[in-house]
Amino acid sequence: MSKKFYITTPIYYVNDKPHIGHAYTTIAADVLARYYRQKNYRVYFVTGTDEHGAKVAQSANAAGMEPKAFCDQNSALFKETFKALNISNDYFIRTTDERHRVGVVKFLSKLHSNGDIYEGTYEGLYCVGCERFIKEKELVDGLCPDHKKAPEKVSERNYFFKLSKYLPAVRKLIEDGTIKILPHGREKEVLGLFKQDLEDFSVSRENVQWGIPLPFDEKQKTYVWVDALLNYITAIGYGDNDAFFEAWWPADVHVMARDILKFHCVYWPALLLAAGLPVPKVVYLHGFFTLDGKKMSKTLGNVIDPNDLVKKFGIDATRYLLLTQFPFGQDGDIKESLFAEKYNADLANNLGNLVSRVLNMIEKYCGGTVPKDVVSPIPLAHVGDYIELLQFDRALKELWEAVMKANQIIDEAEPWKLAKDPGKREQLETVLSQLAALLLEFAAAIEPFMPETADIIIGSLNEARITKGDPLFKRV
Ligand SMILES: [Zn+2]
Repeated sequence: MSKKFYITTPIYYVNDKPHIGHAYTTIAADVLARYYRQKNYRVYFVTGTDEHGAKVAQSANAAGMEPKAFCDQNSALFKETFKALNISNDYFIRTTDERHRVGVVKFLSKLHSNGDIYEGTYEGLYCVGCERFIKEKELVDGLCPDHKKAPEKVSERNYFFKLSKYLPAVRKLIEDGTIKILPHGREKEVLGLFKQDLEDFSVSRENVQWGIPLPFDEKQKTYVWVDALLNYITAIGYGDNDAFFEAWWPADVHVMARDILKFHCVYWPALLLAAGLPVPKVVYLHGFFTLDGKKMSKTLGNVIDPNDLVKKFGIDATRYLLLTQFPFGQDGDIKESLFAEKYNADLANNLGNLVSRVLNMIEKYCGGTVPKDVVSPIPLAHVGDYIELLQFDRALKELWEAVMKANQIIDEAEPWKLAKDPGKREQLETVLSQLAALLLEFAAAIEPFMPETADIIIGSLNEARITKGDPLFKRV
């Protein structure tokens, strides 16, 4: 049986509307999912929405809605947006799904009966914005640095997870590479966390209504972060489908932005160990981005809805533009102001022209059929390796260098001159056949990034009679 590949994005908070941050992570995961499907792996790709917690209940209340109705509405926006971006997820999980609740109950019951969850009192400061307890020393002028709000003083009965018991084991799994933290360098950041005071953390909240009740104390609701992390196993049947779960777990890669590193690289493996489950193989933490040099924020009004990009540039171009801006694992800047220019140069001109020139000449000079079976003159040797390393910008760069070289081949060979000279027929047929072979290879390699474009190129070259057709990308 072929190898399996289980890939996840984080589940997205329903308090947000989908923006290009969500699109960025999800498109990247989609490229990997499509790439491994192409390599004949059995792929399961999961994304979804994170729907519990005090903040969601507050927002629902402010919107005059019941929490569940509010979640239904916003979760649907994520589904629609991902559909608009041609995301090929196999499953969409919502933490308000009944099957998720069943899995959470099973998981927490297990930890409780193992003695890894104990009752205690928490006294401290809680930031509702972060949905976590925050330390005095993290505050800036008494305010949460992320939310610019004073945290609430909280003293409540909670249940705690014995994180401390599992820390040495988690650390060892990271050090010996059982859990790979990528890209290289982030691993150090995670290991640095172990030098700080990582304390047992609370798995429940007493005063939160909108959440999953603890199985051993129904008055308490599951802490949203624990609730959210468990999606990675409930989505594949932990709690309601053992055979499916065992076929897919552990995750081959969890993809996310680097701000949620501690939850995924420390808390999550510790919880899994406590439940006797294998840990994820790879946690990939991508970078943060600014938009034209500025932080993306509601206050600045520069939050981009990916649906608007799709309307302007189309699906594949949106995917291309987002992944070519800077290396995926690093922080960078998305230059939206240059999107139109880049679209016209790379897609409408370079790629669009190449495809239309090749198809046009095969139609015109070879009666619409590729005359010879030859190999592509430009090898695309590293594209697959780059994708496997999530170096999407490098993969796309290699592909576009091939496009430019192919255009150069045409300019130098001048097939329109060869066509006038019957003695150069052989040469003409060879060069056009080579270009057709290159386009087919290019189309296969670009499929994970630009599935529709790949289909159009492959479809045009496989027609009984090749014709030029419409431009691949209309100029904007
Ligand atoms: Zn906060």
